[in-house]
Amino acid sequence: MGQDSSRAPLREFRDRDLALKASSAIRKAAAGLQGPVKIMDFCGTHEWTITHYGLRSLMPDNVELVAGPGCPVCVTPGYYVEAAVRLAMDGIRIFTYGDSYRLQGPPETDLPKSLEEARSRGGRVEVVYSVLDAVRMAREDGEESVFLAVGFETTAPATLAPIRAGDAPDNLRFINVHRLTPPITRYVLETHPEAPIRGIIAPGHVSAITGAKAWAFIPEEYGIPTVVAGFEPIDVLLAILEILRQVREGKARLVNEYSRVVSWDGNLEAQRLMGETCDVVDAGWRGIGFVPASGLAFKGEFRRYDALEAYGIPELTPEAWERDLPPGCRCAEVTLGMARPTDCPMFLRACTPESPYGPCMVSSEGTCAIWAKFGGGGLAEEVGRELGVI
Ligand code: SF4
Repeated sequence: MGQDSSRAPLREFRDRDLALKASSAIRKAAAGLQGPVKIMDFCGTHEWTITHYGLRSLMPDNVELVAGPGCPVCVTPGYYVEAAVRLAMDGIRIFTYGDSYRLQGPPETDLPKSLEEARSRGGRVEVVYSVLDAVRMAREDGEESVFLAVGFETTAPATLAPIRAGDAPDNLRFINVHRLTPPITRYVLETHPEAPIRGIIAPGHVSAITGAKAWAFIPEEYGIPTVVAGFEPIDVLLAILEILRQVREGKARLVNEYSRVVSWDGNLEAQRLMGETCDVVDAGWRGIGFVPASGLAFKGEFRRYDALEAYGIPELTPEAWERDLPPGCRCAEVTLGMARPTDCPMFLRACTPESPYGPCMVSSEGTCAIWAKFGGGGLAEEVGRELGVI
């Protein structure tokens, strides 16, 4: 039987000797740099790779890897969850993906706290794997339905495709909570100088849609080295190495390390699809703020799919935006790279993947959930072992 050549590159990108060589080059590049050299990843899958493979333990003391707002479920304002729960309790069928199912709405309300709870209290909620399942079911049974659509640029085109194609029936509407990642990156850099970031690992999946060009503003305007990286451990280590070399040279460039997937221009058809169906609007991010030009809202003929408009629910405005985190939850700081999950007193105590208290513990892409599952470079494991929960 011949070798499966499609798997060979993956093995190479997990090679132990390569990892050791890369980490020794990282130590050399970091030697003498004044720390901490804080490098932020902007993608839950990068945080997963860093944590799952224990890459933090390979870093020298002056290099700190921190997670940014890379989990769409974590940053979805509770306002939209509450709207979906309310509709579900009013007898309208709500479709959602599994990771939004357990997401909680605002803490202080008499309604069920999540779609999961709404379902247990008689609300109509269906978890689907694809928007196409929702389209098919709504078309077949004609029932009034709403899709809670959460996601970044990677998810939005898939959700919007059946709408633009005219395949989505009129009895299926959408709570459009899609968010755009370059604007939140700019927002983090501008509004949180207290968390100085000296390097950015730009998200690979998102960049496949937006193109590497979407990140050019970071080195150009903020002088911060930026590398578009893939998701294998060697990808991430090489991205860190490139950032440290640039820091050392006092330079800032955009490098596309993930050229096997990401082009400079990205997926132009997906970009067109988003532009034809939606306007770019200011939008709320849970725990973070109301961020300019960071959301998508239906425009023109596609506004008939807007569930909020159809059911008379006002759109979230900057005036009405709230941090809406449960008391004591430190997700806002975790999401901005200013705290680690282990800094939160509830981590693995009152807040676990099985019973999440805050939004960063809900989705498998949430930083707290990743640290709870795989350890956050030793400390999380220590805490978990001490508590006997991992
Ligand atoms: S451990 Fe839970 S409560 Fe603490 S910051 Fe994370 S999600 Fe919030």
